[in-house]
Amino acid sequence: MKVIELPLGNFGWPRCCCGCGRSDFDYRPYTENVVIWTVLSVTAYRPISLLVPTCRRCAHKHLYWYAGAGVMGALTIALLAAIEKNFPIYGGLLMGLLVAPAFVMFILGTMAKPLKVLGYNESDGTIKVKFRNDQVATELLKNPGSRPSSHKIVRRSYLIALGAVVLIFVGVVISALYFK
Ligand SMILES: [Zn+2]
Repeated sequence: MKVIELPLGNFGWPRCCCGCGRSDFDYRPYTENVVIWTVLSVTAYRPISLLVPTCRRCAHKHLYWYAGAGVMGALTIALLAAIEKNFPIYGGLLMGLLVAPAFVMFILGTMAKPLKVLGYNESDGTIKVKFRNDQVATELLKNPGSRPSSHKIVRRSYLIALGAVVLIFVGVVISALYFK
């Protein structure tokens, strides 16, 4: 995965799907809310819209993971409701066990996207984009105004969410063992 900075509106995409490199692609609209600044719990977003060359498969792959995560989440709630009456303690444990895969599926879905817009620089009109396909990123770097980014890939929001899930899971396990 490569992070590069590109001048907005002057992309010069390679003529292939920017996810898998296949030659049958369409230019599909892709919009992402990019964080402009964050102060404590207040975050300002700016929607960045691009026309991205993707094949059908790469354009939709993440949706299957999201759907899976949704099903897993719904299953958790349904099972929890059914089990809670009889086994109040193990219901919580089961929820922890089921929530984890749903969360992992959500992350996998996000990772399956061919690109992610990480930021927008208002002063020089460039956006910072992470590409799953290194070859596409290398190709885009040949365009004037493009440059590799020194950006460090830190999935901070995911790390916080993952930490919360782990904490809840540990709490549930401990309480299940303690109240047995
Ligand atoms: Zn593709």
